[in-house]
Amino acid sequence: RTVFVNGTYLPEDQATVSIFDRGFLMADGVYEVTSVLDGKLVDFDGHTKRLHRSLEELDMQAPCSDADLLEMHRELIRLNGIDQGMIYLQVTRGNPGDRSFLFPDGAVKPTIVAFTQDIPTLADAPAAKTGFKVISVPDIRWGRRDIKTVQLLYPSMAKMMAKKAGVDDSWMVEDGHVTEGTSNNAYIIKGNRIITRQLTNDILHGITRAAVLRFAAEAQFEVEERPFTVDEVKQADEAFATAATIFVMPVVEIDGAQIGAGKPGPVATRLRELYIDEMRKAAI
Ligand code: PLP
Repeated sequence: RTVFVNGTYLPEDQATVSIFDRGFLMADGVYEVTSVLDGKLVDFDGHTKRLHRSLEELDMQAPCSDADLLEMHRELIRLNGIDQGMIYLQVTRGNPGDRSFLFPDGAVKPTIVAFTQDIPTLADAPAAKTGFKVISVPDIRWGRRDIKTVQLLYPSMAKMMAKKAGVDDSWMVEDGHVTEGTSNNAYIIKGNRIITRQLTNDILHGITRAAVLRFAAEAQFEVEERPFTVDEVKQADEAFATAATIFVMPVVEIDGAQIGAGKPGPVATRLRELYIDEMRKAAI
């Protein structure tokens, strides 16, 4: 694989970053994951805008222009021959030379790395045919989940809890209400109504979420943005999750209880098709 590090394309085994990088020592960095369909970028504009927001919230400089970012993503797709997959982009505060809790001054350049992952079944995921099973776990993350930081230890632990329970993911719960999945936004469906938590600092502002809610409203579904409980999930007609690399993924079970018919329902299935069709057309 050819990867990108600080302006250079090189084989992955030759790519290096300093051990003093604050991304490594302090999880002081942000990232984006953009999916690739037919060799093109899905919602690149949305991901670029959120990257800027994450950087600003952490008082970090942008590592390059948006035009350079787009060019780099396209070059990685070309060099690695990606048809379906994703591009991971990470920007950390860089290497100040010593370990310190203080942010370094502006002379320290951010570190930017990016790489591709091939996902041949991205649009045609077998999991979408059976749906995800999830368990609920407490959400013990920090209070700025709206910033897409590389601090992913708890979501990673929650994914391991799911694996140990023999299911696909964990939905995290705070104050009796679902916040989100380990790496996706969470939704329930009641009749014609799609319910998902409103955008605050409690959840990541999903790029897929924004597009799916737009398509849902255009398709005459009602959209209600509010927190919901695990009991409401159990009583819902359907449930689903969204993220860049799963698009719209039906969720058919929570804590061992079947949701609706216990298989991907018509609304989640329709939203998945709508999303993939529309984003394929708009990919750049
Ligand atoms: N919520 C969390 C915690 C995530 O990590 C992600 C994506 O990785 C999402 C939601 C979905 O965001 P997006 O649709 O932008 O991929």
